Amino acid sequence: MRLRFWGTRGSIAKPGPTTIRYGGNTSCVEMRSAAGTLLVLDCGTGGHALGQALVAARTAPYRGHMLITHTHWDHIQGFPFFAPLFLEGDQWDVYAPRGLRESLRETLAGQMQYRYFPVSLEQFTASVRYHDLVEGVFTIGDVRVTARYLNHPALALGYRLEVDGVTVVYATDHEPHSRALAHGACELEGEDRRHAEFLAGADLVIHDAQYTAAEYAGKVGWGHSTVESVVAVAVAARVRRLALFHHEPLRDDDALDRVVEAANRQADGAVEVFAAAEGTTLDVTPLAAPRATATQSPLAAKTSVPDEMLDQTVLVALDERELRERVMEAVMADGLKLSTAADRDAVLTPPPSGSPSLLMVGDRLGGGDGLDVVRAVRRGADGYDKDVPIVLVASSEARAARAAAAQAGVTDWLVAPFSMLYARTRVRAWALRQACRWIAAAAPPDEAERLRALRARGILDTPPEERFDRITRLARRLFGVPAAMVTLVDADRQWFKSRMGTDVSETPRDLSFCAHAIQQDEIFVVPDALADPRFADNPVVIGEPRVRFYAGRPVHVDGRRVGTLCVVDSRPRQFGDEELKALDDLAVLVEKELQ
Ligand SMILES: [Zn+2]
Ligand SMILES: [Zn+2]
Repeated sequence: MRLRFWGTRGSIAKPGPTTIRYGGNTSCVEMRSAAGTLLVLDCGTGGHALGQALVAARTAPYRGHMLITHTHWDHIQGFPFFAPLFLEGDQWDVYAPRGLRESLRETLAGQMQYRYFPVSLEQFTASVRYHDLVEGVFTIGDVRVTARYLNHPALALGYRLEVDGVTVVYATDHEPHSRALAHGACELEGEDRRHAEFLAGADLVIHDAQYTAAEYAGKVGWGHSTVESVVAVAVAARVRRLALFHHEPLRDDDALDRVVEAANRQADGAVEVFAAAEGTTLDVTPLAAPRATATQSPLAAKTSVPDEMLDQTVLVALDERELRERVMEAVMADGLKLSTAADRDAVLTPPPSGSPSLLMVGDRLGGGDGLDVVRAVRRGADGYDKDVPIVLVASSEARAARAAAAQAGVTDWLVAPFSMLYARTRVRAWALRQACRWIAAAAPPDEAERLRALRARGILDTPPEERFDRITRLARRLFGVPAAMVTLVDADRQWFKSRMGTDVSETPRDLSFCAHAIQQDEIFVVPDALADPRFADNPVVIGEPRVRFYAGRPVHVDGRRVGTLCVVDSRPRQFGDEELKALDDLAVLVEKELQ
């Protein structure tokens, strides 16, 4: 993988004699895989020179991907000046975190309104697609991308990129959660620990390091890291190389040299620290000996959280009035539903509308210890999802009692003083994290009989049979879809009795559309999986094979729905009456063969 830094400065472009060596342009990094996948990380003012270079080197239309961490100016100001967007035939996909209200496209269009800029988004001649991201895993060409929320006053995502046997993490505009960590103490709990896991084992981490610990007191809550905290996390996460990034505009080249020296003294050889310099190219290659792969959350999600999924309730329970009001305001500001409880008993009364999606509990509640409530919920209080995220709201760092709280089952902390913007961003991140799930189908009421009927037939795990294959082949042709299958829904998997257009022979039942289809007798149709809260973040929707459309007709054995004949497409589509009838006809043929 080859990288080039086109912009390394934070907050505002600072070209001039004091920034000659490390550069004055704001965030922009070019990345190419060996196979030629082109990624652009942020499009600050450095994007202008990158765009010019791409146009000059162009031999054929570009197919490029831009990953934006967030839409603060210093990360998008180069976007309207990115020349490849004005080339006929080029294709660009632009990814950035989804807000709760406005889409990425609307946000980017905002900075290009005529009062700010003479050219509008509609005037790009390249074909540009916009993707609203939530936290999760997806692929771009041969690059596996893991997106994770950072700690910043705007909803920002860091990107972990894996390709060519190496891992590069791009994490800019992130403040450590714990103030002790900001001062370089290696205290990794909760979200700080998860951030370290996000960086774990990377060959290169490009990380916000705008301030030093000595400068931090005046910058608390601004959403940036100290060099000391980044080094501490990188060492703990066994990172190979660390590129300090998003340089403070007031820091001149010589001062930055001194920062790098101090950072390397702190790292003491455990990590190689350098400062990203505009114009430098880096080849990131694997170590000769394979490194232990980092732990990662196995499944996750991307794109388009349907609005229905934001229909969530946040329960706020804390004593201190001023804090409580701030938290409530943060919850309501984004239209999330709010409920409140004044003491332990009120929290533990089963909520009538089911488990809230987020609990914000004070360190003191009803005169008692907030952690008691946390423990009670974790033990399985009535009406609660045991894994519901719980945020401990503490009136001071001293009251956050991080180790005890982590042990009690606290997911995260919100420590006063915090700004309203900060609280809103955190609530949004917790809420969106909840939202980006899919729903696995429940077992139908006759599950035991269903499985008995399925297994008695001895039809599972058989070699391919032409009598089924000819039906799926016909179905694929008839509906003009990329794939058609006869699936059998087993206890914890779906197995493909016949498959046309896929190499996979089975998938976990949790991911299965057919597991939903066997809940009913009618044909089960999902016109657009991304618009359906049951499937929007299903890994087979957000990743390969990128299912967008599904239609499945249950097939019966001994009167039980054991599986389906189904067709899938990677594009959304409608399924009319004639098509329903045709799928029904073919499914009858499948049932005849199963007899
Ligand atoms: Zn920034
Ligand atoms: Zn920012």
